[in-house]
Amino acid sequence: MHEMAITRELLGLAQKHAAEAGGRRVTDLAIAVGELSTFSEDAVSFCWEFLSQGSVCEGARLHFRRVPAELTCLDCGKAHTLAGELAPCPGCGSTRLKVTAGDDLILESLEIETGSEPTPKPA
Ligand SMILES: [Zn+2]
Repeated sequence: MHEMAITRELLGLAQKHAAEAGGRRVTDLAIAVGELSTFSEDAVSFCWEFLSQGSVCEGARLHFRRVPAELTCLDCGKAHTLAGELAPCPGCGSTRLKVTAGDDLILESLEIETGSEPTPKPA
């Protein structure tokens, strides 16, 4: 299960961002999942709940978004988005293509709750 490793990475990143922003709590994370990635969203969610316990990320919601994969032609350098079936390069027809995006899982953005809500006035 390689989800454990990627989730640990996500958590580390989120904690780092939260610390830099002076946030007390991370409430939401937007995660882009590449069309060609083999990560299971359920498994990531499961690992997340387990790993985030006791951290600033505890209870944060994960929002997954599927993003299309991108292929780059090794012959002409043209990049194109993979739409469905694997197809030859639209530029030159070459089949020597390299996946340059969309085979991984990326933290796109996160919502951090800072301690900025109004403090109650002393009586
Ligand atoms: Zn090409």
